[in-house]
Amino acid sequence: MKSFGYAAQSKTSPLAPFHFDRRDPGPKDVAVAIDYCGICHSDIHQARDEWGGSIYPMVPGHEIVGRVTAVGAEVTKFKVGDLAGVGVAVDSCRVCPNCLALEEPYCTKGMVGTYNAKDYDGTLMHGGYSDNIVADERFVFSISPKLDLAAVAPLLCAGITTYSPLRHWKVGPGMKVGILGLGGLGHMGLKFAHSFGAHVVQFTTSESKIADAKKLGADEVILSKDPAQMAAHTGSFDFILDCVSAPHDMDAYLRLLKLNGTLCLVGLPDQPLSVQPFSLLAGRRSLSGSAIGGTKETQEMLDYCAEHNIVSDIELIGYDKLPEAYERVVKGDVKYRFVLDGKTLKS
Ligand code: NAP
Ligand code: ZN
Ligand code: ZN
Repeated sequence: MKSFGYAAQSKTSPLAPFHFDRRDPGPKDVAVAIDYCGICHSDIHQARDEWGGSIYPMVPGHEIVGRVTAVGAEVTKFKVGDLAGVGVAVDSCRVCPNCLALEEPYCTKGMVGTYNAKDYDGTLMHGGYSDNIVADERFVFSISPKLDLAAVAPLLCAGITTYSPLRHWKVGPGMKVGILGLGGLGHMGLKFAHSFGAHVVQFTTSESKIADAKKLGADEVILSKDPAQMAAHTGSFDFILDCVSAPHDMDAYLRLLKLNGTLCLVGLPDQPLSVQPFSLLAGRRSLSGSAIGGTKETQEMLDYCAEHNIVSDIELIGYDKLPEAYERVVKGDVKYRFVLDGKTLKS
């Protein structure tokens, strides 16, 4: 299948137009014409090789929504014309205990990422800053026509990555929950934690986001640069979801957990984070992490969003604005997710 998109050729080259091939749809595959693709901070970390090991050329993008254009003979979930989404993974081994439990991001063989990854047969995979994608139907999700399609795109990564840990740690009424960083992931974590009935406290470094945080569902907003505001919450949180993309002081947040509280990292700074052991011992606290979410839970999250009318707050942009969008994401200056409009992709 012929494809066209935007690719990084090296960690320093700006994304530029790129023609490439994808496999033709096999018996279990679904081909999707991409209408919209979100810009995740992970796209930037990987395009710039901030985590190491990036593979070029790289077409980023794993918050993909569009319409089905072809289905293989054995596909049961989709027909041509259906709305469909693809997220961070496009395959996994399917036979390890974690795949059998539908927790594919934790596949012991290693899941196949949507981009910056090789398929099990060695083919380099390319993501959603492009006009089409092909994936096995297990990794393609049904999208409700009730929601604004462009604003659904970020649910495929930012949505599931925050929904999954909030569900795993059973966030709900009676719990005090903190969300760190009001970016793409953070604003979805805030919406979900609020929707699940918790008392939600948003932490931000940006004074300009305080009013928005309240509109998005925060019961309280803390300017994390103010030590007095931080100290007022010492030892009071059941759960904190850390959505920050850059190195930050872990001890300052661990101290805010109450007895047996958990801080879960979903943010992936490019530097190791240091922790004072006493921050964990005091209060028998846990430091944890969570990776996107499995296929069953991703569909559950999309269905929950359709039922509760939850989407991402987006800035819809054309492909000509990609370099500027990357710079603004790095500065924390996006409200609250950039989404690329496929109509502006011209070969
Ligand atoms: P984003 O939109 O850039 O949001 C990150 C937010 O972190 C910013 O808006 C900012 O919020 C805060 N922040 C940035 N620099 C900071 C600093 N130096 N100190 C304190 N706060 C800072 O990024 P995103 O797309 O939400 O992604 C967040 C992180 O999650 C990235 O590292 C990404 O790679 C990772 N991620 C992980 C998974 C997973 O499976 N676990 C999935 C997707 C993404 P304020 O302005 O409110 O302070
Ligand atoms: Zn992502
Ligand atoms: Zn597996």
